[in-house]
Parts: sequence; structure tokens; C-alpha cells
Amino acid sequence: MPITIHAKCLDCGKTAPYDPHSHTCPHCGSEWREAQYPYPQISAAWKEQLTTRPFNLWRYHELLPTVSNLPDISLGEGGTPLLKANNLGMMLGNPNIYIKDERQGPTASFKDRQAAVTIAALKEAGITEMVVASTGNVAISYSAYAARAGIKLWAFLTSRVPVEKMREVALYGTQVVKVTGSYDQTKKIASEFARQRGVFYDLGARSIPCIEAMKTIAFEAAEQLTQRLGTPTGHPWQSPDWYLQSVSGGMGPLGALKGFTELKEMGWINSLPKVGVIQTEGCAPMVHAWKQNLEKAIPVRAPHTHIETLATGDPGHTYTLLREKILGAAGGIFESVTDEETFRAIHFMAKMEGISVEPAAAVTIAGLIKLVRAGVIRSDEVVVVNCTGHTMPVESVILGEGWSKDINATVPPVQETEQEGLLAALSHVASDRYPRVAIVDDNPEARRLIRRILQSQGEYTLFEADDGREAVELARKELPNLMILDLMMPELDGFGVLEALQSMPETAEIPVIVVTAKELTSREKELLAGRVKSLLQKGDFMNNDLEDEVRSLLG
Ligand SMILES: *Cc1c(COP(=O)(O)O)cnc(C)c1O
Ligand SMILES: [Zn+2]
Repeated sequence: MPITIHAKCLDCGKTAPYDPHSHTCPHCGSEWREAQYPYPQISAAWKEQLTTRPFNLWRYHELLPTVSNLPDISLGEGGTPLLKANNLGMMLGNPNIYIKDERQGPTASFKDRQAAVTIAALKEAGITEMVVASTGNVAISYSAYAARAGIKLWAFLTSRVPVEKMREVALYGTQVVKVTGSYDQTKKIASEFARQRGVFYDLGARSIPCIEAMKTIAFEAAEQLTQRLGTPTGHPWQSPDWYLQSVSGGMGPLGALKGFTELKEMGWINSLPKVGVIQTEGCAPMVHAWKQNLEKAIPVRAPHTHIETLATGDPGHTYTLLREKILGAAGGIFESVTDEETFRAIHFMAKMEGISVEPAAAVTIAGLIKLVRAGVIRSDEVVVVNCTGHTMPVESVILGEGWSKDINATVPPVQETEQEGLLAALSHVASDRYPRVAIVDDNPEARRLIRRILQSQGEYTLFEADDGREAVELARKELPNLMILDLMMPELDGFGVLEALQSMPETAEIPVIVVTAKELTSREKELLAGRVKSLLQKGDFMNNDLEDEVRSLLG
């Protein structure tokens, strides 16, 4: 049975059959409309067929506005992995943080969902030329799909978009138009250009295919969480407690929330997630409006941030809509973070999770850290974070100088033989005179986390012990420069280790950092006070907190 899609007007509330050629409500002319589907019919079809379909966004085609079930322009969009952030989770004390790894889309951002569905719909509608305004990622993604669809693309980019991204756009055969000005000005110029030339202009959040495409991130996340967590609520899929994304225009969270809402309507999930919308402090019109409980955002005329992807100063009606949708669903929060917190988060994610994300995505991670530490996100809540790629343009900013050890193999060796020259060169790279650090914890994952923090930051000779007796033995034998000590261990606990170290002259001076999950009594705090240089609470410290302590103690 064919599926009939309707478009419901968000202004007059009237419904009309969805026509891909029409971009306004036939009753009142509004551009703000929402697609509606026969949900019971689709739910039945999914129950029968979904498990047999490949894991890409087209497996949900009944809830997409294209005719084709798998357009010939597909580049394998959607179906990105849901990764558990173990180290981040351990540091924040939240075991259920999941990264929706949109880096693994065809052009490394979640804009691939939008581009795939929109360009497929435009191709179906016979469109051969179009205009987009973009802060980078939309232009890259649309360029790839436009190339496949035979659509001429004009991409208007602000001159602040990293040149690496602009070249990527140009490489796909798109005409790049660089605008010296804000993103809001760029959008106005692009839309006027399209109007004068009579070509299609991408309407972003006002475009039905764009919003519909973004829903698939919700469908996938709920389906993947089910594989991880089972279905404790008895519904086919498992919804997260939070969906977090950084925003510029706000289309992503609008689409994702619509996706979750449809799943709930179909009975596939039990409840809706709260939505965490993160902006950069230098361009946070939505956050300001949210905190003052305003229905309309006051535009930021001159965004001041290095994170160009998120520099929409005037979110217009999208904010009003997003706020309304969030309040009408499970609630949520708008929060902002600084560029500095963002850059730290990029480095953190790469070093501690092996996930290299771009600044716009690191804004979300920095927001997550802030919200967990503020207690807004509870430690038992399941969080899905949208992450994208493109780290390269900012790597130099994050690493600064001195990030490599250099060997020059082209100069003739001073030494007699080539072998000796090689050994001399390599002795600059690694020596065995590094600070000696003992890590004592009965939990191997906790030891691994601390080892990773230290090894990703500098050179140490590390020793590990998994119980108190072994720790005392190790201290006496190896005389480390520093001990990182857990308190709760079987047999001899951390207090016992401290006492034993104290009782031997050769180990009495070893500085100790205690890392513990234990809630300390005031008596225990007193016991530790004279003896321990610093105390970190498990689940409540980040890598740089430990790095700072270690550096200061080793001098
Ligand atoms: C586009 C983009 C955003 C902002 O998304 P909107 O939903 O359009 O506000 C955030 N992060 C990345 C990486 C993006 O590409
Ligand atoms: Zn209307």
C-alpha cells in the first residue's frame, strides 16, 4: 500500500497533501510546515520488514519524503556507529555516554543525512541548479551529492570558513562564493542571488526533506541503544534520556526530536529524551533567550568565536520553534561553552577516546562535561552525543609547538658506523631516566585510565600494583617518584599502604595522590591530610586535573 504524506502548517494548523514542488502552505503561505505520515501503517511495515534491511538511513524510507527507497545518488549515508565513551564516562562518573559517530558519514558530518535526502528529493523533482549558504559542512556535503545528482551547486561561504573546507567544496565542482561578512549576511546575499537567477535556494530548517533527514539520527540511536541496553520498558526500542548537539541554525535537534516523537507516537519507545542544545559563548543567541525565558532570540550581530560552523547570529524563527518543541516534549536545556573549553575537549576526545572531532562537535562534548558536572545530567542517565569530523583545520591551534620528536637521518653520522649513529639518534627519542610513577588500584580499568592519562601527556616509567601489599613491596623495591593510590582495596587498603610507607625511611617521602571512589568521613580526611599531596574523586575529575597534579608534584 503506498504511503501518503501530508504537510501540516505550523502557523494555521491546516493540512495538505505533501507536494515536493511546493514550499509553502496552500492556505496561508507559511513556509513552516511539518510532514505527517500514516504512523500505524508504517509501524506495521517496520515490524515485518525492518530487520531484513541494511543499516543505513534508507531503512526508514517510509518516514522519509522521497519516492525512492534507495536513491542512486546514495553514498552510504546514515548507519553510523554508536560508540560508548568509556574513559569520558569513567572520569565523569556516568557509564552511559554514547557518541553517535557521524564522522563516519560520507563527508564526515551529519549534514550527509540532510544532503542525501534533500538532493535525492530535488533530483526527483527535476531540479538541476541550486544555491546554499553554509558555514562549511553543508556546502561540503551538498557538493558531494550534487556532483552525483548532476546538480550545479553555488555555495556561499563566509570568508572565515577554514580554507581547507572551502577547497574541499571547490574540489567537488561546486562554485564557491566567498562572502566577507557574517553568516547571516551570507544567507541574505545567497537567497537574493537565487531569487534573481530563479534557481532553487535551500531553506534549511524550513525545508521538509532537511528536517525529515535529521530524524534518522534518532531512529538509529534508539535502535542501537536497544542492542546495548535491551528494552527495559517493554517497547521495541530504547530512547536515551538526553540527546545533545551543538547548534548553529538548530535544524539538527529539531529533526532529531521529531524523530523521537514519531517513534513514541508509533509506540516504539517509551519516552522522549531531554534535549541539550549547546552553543559557543561568542555566539549564543539561543542560550541567552532560553535563560531569560524569551520566545524570540535576540540576534548576535557580531559573533565572536573561532568556531565558524556555529556562527549563526540570528536563528530567527527556528529558535522559537525549537524552544516550543523542547518544552512540549521532555524538556531540556540550552547551555554555552567557551572556545577554550571546546579546544580542550577536542584534545581530550582524541587522546582519551581515540575520536578526533571538529570544534563544532567538541562544543557538544564541552557542554556535556559542563552539564554532568553541574548535576543537570544525572550519573544514571543515558546520553547520546552527536559528533562529527574535520579536525584538520584546527590541529595546529590545539597542538602548538613541540608535538614531535625529530630525527634527521640525512646528515652523515659523526659516529664510526651507521649503527652507532642510529643508536645515538634514537637515544634522543627515548631514555630511561623518566619520572617513576606507581599506579595502585585493584580495578584494572581504573589503572588503565590513569596509565592512559599519564602516557598521553608525557614520558613516565610506570609501575602498577593491584593490591596494597604489592604496592608496599613495589615502593620499597622501585622507589617511585610518585604514587597514585586507590583507597578501597581488599586485604591491605590505601590507608594501610600509607601507614606502611610512612614506617620505612626510604619510602616515607614518596608523594602520594589519592584517587578514590570512597566518600570520606571527616576522620578519614584528617588521616589523609598530612600524608597525601592531593585527593581526586573518581567520577569527578578530568584528565587535565590529574595531569596538573602530577606535573606540580614531579616539578
Ligand atoms: C551544522 C553543524 C552544527 C549545527 O547544526 P544545526 O542543527 O544546523 O544547528 C553543529 N555541528 C556540526 C559539526 C555541524 O556541521
Ligand atoms: Zn498555513
